[in-house]
Amino acid sequence: MITHETEVLVAGLGPVGATAALSLARQGIAVTAIEPLANSATDLRASTYHAPTLEILDDLGATEALFSHGLKAPIYQYRDRQTGEVFSFDMTEIADHTRFPYRIQCEQHRVTANIVSQLQLQPSATVLPGQRVLFVEQDAQGVTAYVENANTVERWRARYLVAADGASSVVRKVLGLQFPGFTYDEKFVCLTTEYPIEEAFENLSLVNYISDPKEWMVVLKVPGLWRILVPAPVGLSDEQLVSEEYKNGVFSRILGRPVDQDHDIITKHRTIYRAHQRVCERFAVGRIMLVGDSAHLNSPMGGFGMNSGIHDAVNASEKLVKVLRHGADSEQQLALYERQRQTITRNFVQAQTIENTRLMRDGWANARAERSEALTKLMNDREARRAYLLKQSMFTSLEQAAAIT
Ligand SMILES: Cc1cc2nc3c(=O)[nH]c(=O)nc-3n(C[C@H](O)[C@H](O)[C@H](O)COP(=O)(O)OP(=O)(O)OC[C@H]3O[C@@H](n4cnc5c(N)ncnc54)[C@H](O)[C@@H]3O)c2cc1C
Repeated sequence: MITHETEVLVAGLGPVGATAALSLARQGIAVTAIEPLANSATDLRASTYHAPTLEILDDLGATEALFSHGLKAPIYQYRDRQTGEVFSFDMTEIADHTRFPYRIQCEQHRVTANIVSQLQLQPSATVLPGQRVLFVEQDAQGVTAYVENANTVERWRARYLVAADGASSVVRKVLGLQFPGFTYDEKFVCLTTEYPIEEAFENLSLVNYISDPKEWMVVLKVPGLWRILVPAPVGLSDEQLVSEEYKNGVFSRILGRPVDQDHDIITKHRTIYRAHQRVCERFAVGRIMLVGDSAHLNSPMGGFGMNSGIHDAVNASEKLVKVLRHGADSEQQLALYERQRQTITRNFVQAQTIENTRLMRDGWANARAERSEALTKLMNDREARRAYLLKQSMFTSLEQAAAIT
């Protein structure tokens, strides 16, 4: 069997693996990235880029797609679907803290393709599409990965491996790691349309979380499309959930008028998926680091999944550069990566997305007055609101991670 060598092998070129590989390559590390797909997956996934993630990608020279194609969303809103109450949060209030006081709304696959194209320009990077990691093993000197391509299986020997191979990570499975947590009972349905949904709401922003015990909604704009995320009613089959009838029902309830064949709303996507809250028991084992969805999964309420994965990626690459170029202790650096990112995943990303999902589903129903009072208080308290904006845009979690020693 042919054996190739590299310093760092990255399994998976989603947004997280691509960021890790680009960050390493820009610092002169010989990095080889393995990806089964020929091009980034174009399914509907993350669309929100928080300010610190924009700073990271800007520092890596990978914001072309975001700024040429994405939509700037300085304001996000929480709405109560039943009372119509609206709370608007304006990120320009933290303009002194970031050069990007907004979220950018842009499809994940465009940004990933942009990061990969930058990676391909790096002299120390090799990108291998159409190949997949089948198995890994490690010893005191390095990691061996068995990689399948169209014709054969080859062996790759690396000093370190970054596992960015997504939610079903082969690397996590080969290491025999537990992925504890839970899966929400209800499925989520995502519908997209070019129809001007803003007609149905006064002053709708580009990012809206609309609570309702009957049918909460996340309403997000991406270039040219509104994305509507709703919970699937229990008891409906997948076939029913993607039917005309169900789609027309969702839009009739939003627009407050019948939507049928005569008043049709055309959708571009109708996607059903399940949301999970899971954190891998280890983020680093020997010379292997897990990043992104291979290490953690969360509900999409808040847009933290991909963003926190990108934060893992830069943290992991910083540690590897310290070890490979500055003689830092390998065991200590990988353990520090695990402490920093696993702690933040548990204490912030998981806790906040579980809370956000609870509030969308039933928080306002069971405690509407209390919730409304808390948000009103926040709107009237500049310092508290600033702390809230910094927390929800993920600055606070990055600062807390950096403070973990
Ligand atoms: C509908 C939906 C909406 C979402 N919305 C948001 C949002 O608004 N904000 C947010 O932050 N997050 C969101 N997320 C989550 C976000 O999409 C993921 O967190 C993100 O894709 C994780 O990136 P990743 O690179 O870790 O994994 P992935 O994007 O899954 O990439 C993993 C890569 O590894 C490759 N791979 C798989 N197996 C192997 C192997 N054996 N060897 C090598 N490579 C392999 C895959 O082909 C893939 O390219 C959403 C997710 C979904 C499903």
